[in-house]
Amino acid sequence: MSKNQNKTNAYSFFNCIEKNFDKAARFLSIEKGLLEQIKACNAVYRIHFPVKIGKEIKVIEAYRVQHSHHKLPCKGGIRYSIKVNQDEVMTLAALMTYKCAIVDVPFGGAKGGIKIDPQTISVEDIEKITRRYTSELIKKNFIGPGIDVPAPDYGTGEREMSWIFDTFLSLRSGEVDALACVTGKPISQGGVRGRKEATGLGVFYGIRELCHIKEEMSSVHLDIGLVGKKIIIQGLGNVGYHAAYFFHKAGAIIIALAEREGAIYNEKGLNVSKVFLHLKNTGSILNFPEAKNIENTEKALELECDILIPAALENVIHKNNANRIKAKIIGEAANGPITPEADEILEKKGVIIIPDIYLNAGGVTVSYFEWLKNLSHVRYGRMEKKFNENMNAELLQVIETVCKKKILSEEKKIILRGPREIDLIRSGLEDTMINGFHKIRDLKKSSKIGNLRTAAFVLAINKIIDSYEKLGIFP
Ligand code: NAD
Repeated sequence: MSKNQNKTNAYSFFNCIEKNFDKAARFLSIEKGLLEQIKACNAVYRIHFPVKIGKEIKVIEAYRVQHSHHKLPCKGGIRYSIKVNQDEVMTLAALMTYKCAIVDVPFGGAKGGIKIDPQTISVEDIEKITRRYTSELIKKNFIGPGIDVPAPDYGTGEREMSWIFDTFLSLRSGEVDALACVTGKPISQGGVRGRKEATGLGVFYGIRELCHIKEEMSSVHLDIGLVGKKIIIQGLGNVGYHAAYFFHKAGAIIIALAEREGAIYNEKGLNVSKVFLHLKNTGSILNFPEAKNIENTEKALELECDILIPAALENVIHKNNANRIKAKIIGEAANGPITPEADEILEKKGVIIIPDIYLNAGGVTVSYFEWLKNLSHVRYGRMEKKFNENMNAELLQVIETVCKKKILSEEKKIILRGPREIDLIRSGLEDTMINGFHKIRDLKKSSKIGNLRTAAFVLAINKIIDSYEKLGIFP
């Protein structure tokens, strides 16, 4: 690849987000300089460090980008993928800023990335790389409960987060809030119940909300509700699997699932848990007994369906395949799965697109709850669970006395139960996703904005401007 080509490709994903931002900015009368400040990445840290893998020394390329310091700490996942590059990390960090603003989570956006393929490296070596990366972040003050708080993303999960926490703790001993330096940790290490499935569940809540609005469903000639809706999901990782699980549970029909190696299809529906078990046992979704294989995985996106959920990587729907997409609704579970050119083609076709900067915000929302738990040093529900149960018992007694009737013990159990951590987390997530959706949709209608993505960007920009004004930076 020539130097020039490299340069052209180097900022393309970031340009896509800038394009969406600029479209939204046209609906606002905000000074150009301020818009430029919101768009710009505030800090980009690129590192190369050596790690001994087998008998060889390998130089690892890694990044941490803090897109916006308008609220602190910065927050965003860490991605492990061989495709990681500066442009991608900058873009994902920017998306985090807008996402946090939309769901009222008080963080600036950030993102991290390590250019490795975790599928080809041993667990011991992934641990070495993760720990070294963390110590590099500590050296430059790029991590900390009030500075920058990473979380899982593509290719990472609880395991990596617990290594990050452990490395931070060992180098910052005595830091009382050390647990809050990273989220997405296992429960035993200060994690919160419900974080693992949060992004996928948030995707479910967001799409469910749209599907319950008659006017929206009529516009794409669908009935309201989720039952019987035909769904295709790309990527059966953390986000894709959990989204598939909740849609299947709600009565939707998962007709196809696509992974790297190919896709599987069954018009009558796939049992998501069974497919996941098959994937675990065989290492592939292909050859699932109750489905047909589709060798070219990208073709799965083009099948007839009601809802398409890309939950793997960016730019999978582009100008060359957008015209062949038959879905009536696309829920962007992944970050940036639709290029701006494809976005325009799909909008002309009347497809409803629920944008990533809202739809996959469930992860950062529950990460926020985890961060608060870590800072308060107390589990959710610990103070009020027993109190609520006692109050409910007293109330029941009064009802039984007044009505002169005994309530069945099974019914009593349901009414008496005080909130557990998982109940509080899920209700906080559900409320956030429902409110976020209606704020975007209301703005779309009141400001006559053509689509939900632009409305979401307008909402985000307004919220960020508000914070700048509160900070008094731009009197
Ligand atoms: P993951 O690593 O758990 O899963 C990704 C899955 O996609 C893997 O199973 C992988 O094999 C599959 N995949 C890769 N290339 C593919 C291809 N070409 N076709 C089909 N499948 C392919 O990652 P994740 O955490 O589920 O993240 C998925 C997307 O969601 C990413 O865009 C990420 O940025 C976004 N996201 C994740 C979170 C989170 O909490 N994990 C939060 C917000 C957004």
